[in-house]
Amino acid sequence: MPQIQHAADLTGWDAFHAELDAWKKRGRIATFWWRDDDATRMTPALTRLLDIADETPISLAVIPHDATAELADALNTRPHATVLQHGFAHLNHAPSDEKKAEFGAHRTPDAMRLDLIAGFKRIGDLFGARFRPMFVPPWNRMTNSLVPRLASVGFRAYSTYGATPANAAPPTAVTQINARADIINWRGGRRFLGETASLELLTTHLSQRRQGSAADQPTGLLTHHADHDDACWRFIETLLRVIKKHPATAWWAPTA
Ligand SMILES: [Zn+2]
Repeated sequence: MPQIQHAADLTGWDAFHAELDAWKKRGRIATFWWRDDDATRMTPALTRLLDIADETPISLAVIPHDATAELADALNTRPHATVLQHGFAHLNHAPSDEKKAEFGAHRTPDAMRLDLIAGFKRIGDLFGARFRPMFVPPWNRMTNSLVPRLASVGFRAYSTYGATPANAAPPTAVTQINARADIINWRGGRRFLGETASLELLTTHLSQRRQGSAADQPTGLLTHHADHDDACWRFIETLLRVIKKHPATAWWAPTA
């Protein structure tokens, strides 16, 4: 008699499927969110990303300082793409022995606020209603003291990386909606993290949400179109196909 496999024993696509099935069994919909960082202009890689996304909602974290009107024009034909503010100039202000940060505690709060305001205005001017007022700090890092200031600039949400704990303080003026599955291995040669590891990030977050140990927020896929190797592209295509085929899934996108 074949052994009944428990979800915990499965890996890769099998585990991902089993987790989605568990959502379905409970009559719940597993929501996903897609954040892609570092866009400034149309490039072959960004075109490829948007082509693959097709009708899947995608949130582009755009660097205000370098964003081009040409990118804004190109997005006019991509109704499923929304724009978030990715820092200001994507510059590192941390000393060399610290982790990189544009909005860390290395500058005065006023200097950072001016950058936030200038970036917010530029993204709003370029992208209009396509801009969703969410702040994405470069390197997913910013000083906590900045969070209460985001609302006064006009932001309604911010996004870094990692699961939000279930017992996190309830959102006040700005909501934190993080990405959860970065598919690039940055320290291991800037290449695809691998199918098993990428799926484990997604499956673990879904399971934590389902069981209440992580806040029930959409499971965020994080991509960086400019840094994808072939394996990254293949994984994204397969993942989108699998999510689309499963009846207990839906894509989420930040609202205006
Ligand atoms: Zn970035």
